[in-house]
Amino acid sequence: MRAMILERPGTPLIERDVEPATPGPGEVLLRVHACGVCRTDLHVQAGELPRPKLPLVLGHEIVGTVLHTGAGARRFTPGAMIGVPWLGWTCGTCRFCRSGRENLCGQARFTGYDLDGGYAELAVADERYCFPIPPDYDSVHAAPLLCAGLIGYRALAAAGDAPRLGLYGFGAAAHIVAQLARHEGRRVFAFTRRGDAAGQRFARSLGAEWAGGSDEPPPEPLDAAVIFAPVGALVPAALRATERGGTVVCAGIHMSDIPAFPYEILWGERTVRSVANLTRRDGEEFFRRAAQVPLKIAAETFPLARANDALEQLRSGRLQGAAVLAG
Ligand SMILES: [Zn+2]
Ligand SMILES: [Zn+2]
Repeated sequence: MRAMILERPGTPLIERDVEPATPGPGEVLLRVHACGVCRTDLHVQAGELPRPKLPLVLGHEIVGTVLHTGAGARRFTPGAMIGVPWLGWTCGTCRFCRSGRENLCGQARFTGYDLDGGYAELAVADERYCFPIPPDYDSVHAAPLLCAGLIGYRALAAAGDAPRLGLYGFGAAAHIVAQLARHEGRRVFAFTRRGDAAGQRFARSLGAEWAGGSDEPPPEPLDAAVIFAPVGALVPAALRATERGGTVVCAGIHMSDIPAFPYEILWGERTVRSVANLTRRDGEEFFRRAAQVPLKIAAETFPLARANDALEQLRSGRLQGAAVLAG
């Protein structure tokens, strides 16, 4: 099969013909129809995350149809359209796994990081961590749901029932979260790079009542903020924009250092927290929601062989919505 391979962090992916894996017990082999390109992929490629499997097939927003099932795999039948997320395996026995927090399992394996992912024609996954794709979404528009949507959903839940929600970094995740939040009747305030008029228009088109640069104060205080951009300086900026008792959620896997800030902007029972990975329960809840709310997914597609271009476009911040490899 053709696959885009990361051989060494800091170097471009290389197109190769590799032997496809055979599905082991409890695993399924998928024909990949689409795979989203996530900011985490940029961090893995750049060597900003410590221990990727090498060589590695990136990609953890996989949508495909089941071709074969391994021994004992009965959850999906051949032909079923399913999605493979970032969480690829957990131990099931540690105190985190046993208390509904498998996202924090110390032995967890992640798709496109510890396990080969979806920048390929075929992929193998443990069926227990896959999700059926709601029928209203085609593969290209379903792919961003697998991480941008799922992590966005977990971050939105971590923000509590805040009626005024700020979103810092209006990319693939925020464009989905804005729609979920609007559907729940919340008010959305979008923060983009300074001067990104197109990004601000895009945010308003998805229901943000205000959109501005991340260095601008919102027209009124926020009850919670979610930071998707990997920029530590946004933490004090978001705290300053957030009302007493509010929460600032850092939703990315990697962030530049957070600058020192005066205690005064945390005082008043403001909370700063991160969101890490996902649980299968998040996925079940989120896909139920995605089946009810007709999410408008903005996706720009790239052929598999142009994965490096897709990563570059994402890095440059020029995309509106998500980048997806398809075909
Ligand atoms: Zn565990
Ligand atoms: Zn991701």
